[in-house]
This record gives sequence, C-alpha cells and structure tokens, in this order.
Amino acid sequence: MSWVTLKNKKHKPWFRLVNATRFFAVLLVFLLAITAVIVAIAKNSEDPADQSSVAVTPEVLPTPVATPTPTPTPSINVPEGKTMDPVVVVVDAGHGGRDPGTVSPYLEGFYEKEVTLDIARKVKSLLNEKGINVVMTREGEDHLNDNIEKDLKLRADVANENNASLFVSIHVNAYEGKGAASVSGMEVYYLNKDPVYEEFTEEQFAEIVGNEIKNATGIKFNGIISRPLAVLRHTVMPAILIETGYITNKDDHDRLLSEDFRLKTAQGIARGIELTLEEIGAFEHNGELYVFKEVGE
Ligand SMILES: [Zn+2]
Repeated sequence: MSWVTLKNKKHKPWFRLVNATRFFAVLLVFLLAITAVIVAIAKNSEDPADQSSVAVTPEVLPTPVATPTPTPTPSINVPEGKTMDPVVVVVDAGHGGRDPGTVSPYLEGFYEKEVTLDIARKVKSLLNEKGINVVMTREGEDHLNDNIEKDLKLRADVANENNASLFVSIHVNAYEGKGAASVSGMEVYYLNKDPVYEEFTEEQFAEIVGNEIKNATGIKFNGIISRPLAVLRHTVMPAILIETGYITNKDDHDRLLSEDFRLKTAQGIARGIELTLEEIGAFEHNGELYVFKEVGE
C-alpha cells in the first residue's frame, strides 16, 4: 500500500506522514539513534571485565574513522642543565648459552636462562604495544661472552651505548643453604647512583616495579635490596635486577614453569616501567616518547 492510499483512509492513522521527505527524515533520525546505541554497546563490550555483554556482529559496526589531528608541533624548551633523549628501555634476560643460571632440583634440564629470556621477550612485546622502545641485551639463547665478568659488563654496555632511559635485568633465584626448600618469593635489587632524573632514585624504581609484580602475580615480595651487582654498577642510568622467584622452592618452581606466572610477571614489570616513566616525566613529542636527563659532569 502506498502513502497516498494510507492518507485517503477514513479513520485517521495514529501517525500521519504528510510527505515522503518527512518520512525519510524520521527514518534517518531513527537509524542514527540505532547506530548510536550499537556504538555505545560496542564500546562497553570492549571492557574486558564486561565480557558477558551483548556480542555485536562486526559487520554492523561502523568503521571508526581515524581523525588525524594536525596539531602544530610545539617547540620544546629543554631546561638548562638537561638533555632531551628518546625513551629506550633495555631489558636484560639473565644468563644464556653455556651459562644456565640457577638449575632446577626438581626437573632435569629446567634452567633459569630460559625463564629469563621468556619473561624478557614478553616484557618487550608488552612495552612495544604501549609504544615504548625496547632493546634486549640478548634476543636469542646465547650469552654475550664466555667470561662471566665480560658478559655482565657487555650487558651494561648495551644499555649505556643505547643511551637507555631505564635498565631492567631479569633473573631467577636459588637458595642452597639450610632449609633451602622453604625460601621463596621475589626480590628487587637496586643501587643508588648519580641521579639522572630530578628527584628520582633507583630505590623508587625498585619499589614501583616490585609492587607491580607482586600485584600482578600475587607472589611473596621479600622487598628491595641495595647491592652493588655488576650490571647495576656498570650502567649509568637507573637500573634494577629482579629475582622473580626461587627455582629451589617447589611452589615458586612450578610457578616459574607456568606460562601464566611468566606472563603476569612480565605484565607487572611492564606496568612498573610505565609508572616509572610517568614518574620521571616522560612525554610525547612528534609521536615519540622522550625524557629530560641531567647532564652529567
Ligand atoms: Zn641469575
């Protein structure tokens, strides 16, 4: 039936459409309202905590149009006595190659070196997702040098040569002493050096990252410890060394074996690094992250 015949009916329709133009206007408003509702539902369902909400078929979703904002790049005033440097985080997977690190007393062939590399790789990809540049001291299985002293020095050199903003070394602990099997948990080592960032110490860095790992994994946090370990001494930027758990403790050992614990540890480390970058005032400029560093003497 056409609109004309509808109009000609004796009794008045509950809603009269005078002409086609008005009809299409009403229809358009209706469709816009439906689209707004679908977009609102889609946005809500992006929240991982709300996985049970209405599933929206992707073909209904309007393609979000990227809105490039051509903001003029403001020139940056570098404060006196400081340099402006791109943010680079150096992640060090402890040991490698012929140096296995700590060794499992429960499972033959399970070594620290593979746990550290796996966690380090996860940290790298998590940070890259956030647009944070990462350099690894080792990408593969191998260590850097057969000589342990040289190996550790080379790891610090990677950080220094890349003008790293922060350095994180990842390890797995072991305890051989009396009651060894009952010693468990995570520790973060640091060493306060000449400050690179105003009002920021390595101690704070260790505290922030340690708490984030604890929050992410639920592992016992034994606290932060100041110790002049080689990689901490040789690096010139804030550096920490994380002992993620004890391979000699059965519970920690089984955690270290699990994908879930490694991922959560990596998430805690990545989150801690993000918070630390905020703390040291990292800022975006032309789509890249930068920090102001104190000019050393
Ligand atoms: Zn180690």
